[in-house]
Amino acid sequence: MPITQPAATDPMPCASAASAAQVQLDAELMQACQQRLADWMTRLLRDDQWPAGRPLPRLSFNQRGKAAGTARLSQWAIRLNPVLLSAHPQVFLDEVIPHELAHLLVFARHGRTRPHGVPWQRLMRETFGLVPRVTHNLDVSSLSGPRFAYRCACREHSLSLRRHNKVQRGQARYLCRECGHALFPDKRAPT
Ligand SMILES: [Zn+2]
Ligand SMILES: [Zn+2]
Repeated sequence: MPITQPAATDPMPCASAASAAQVQLDAELMQACQQRLADWMTRLLRDDQWPAGRPLPRLSFNQRGKAAGTARLSQWAIRLNPVLLSAHPQVFLDEVIPHELAHLLVFARHGRTRPHGVPWQRLMRETFGLVPRVTHNLDVSSLSGPRFAYRCACREHSLSLRRHNKVQRGQARYLCRECGHALFPDKRAPT
């Protein structure tokens, strides 16, 4: 049985994290995102920077995983992560929407290129007035889904569903960094 990484110490309580499916996005927030996108289109049209014949990109709120958003180039669409959006609305309005829109605009002008290459960086700086950052530094703890209570000899631990399943199938066991004991399911706590 392989011994994998020691269990990360995680302050999140058991089974309380909201999963993506549980997030109810505020209608006003979705409207604000639509509006921000429309505002950029209006401004770029006025400045003769909007690609000819291209409509307002379709915006959806079903991005999964840790990405804040993605640009679907050939679909002319932007997907936003509903969990991160509801936790960080201002970052999405100010940075994530321009970031993804810049991908679409580069695609319209240059076709498929390196995603965060020079044309994209220039657009971010000169058109959107933003630092062209590739990754976001949003707190992703709300994405980690249900947690499972485990114990060692010294304290409580909380494992992700993925690690919990590995333990249950006998594919892995995890050691406590402090006491070195293998973690075992804590039957006393709700999971
Ligand atoms: Zn990007
Ligand atoms: Zn321990």
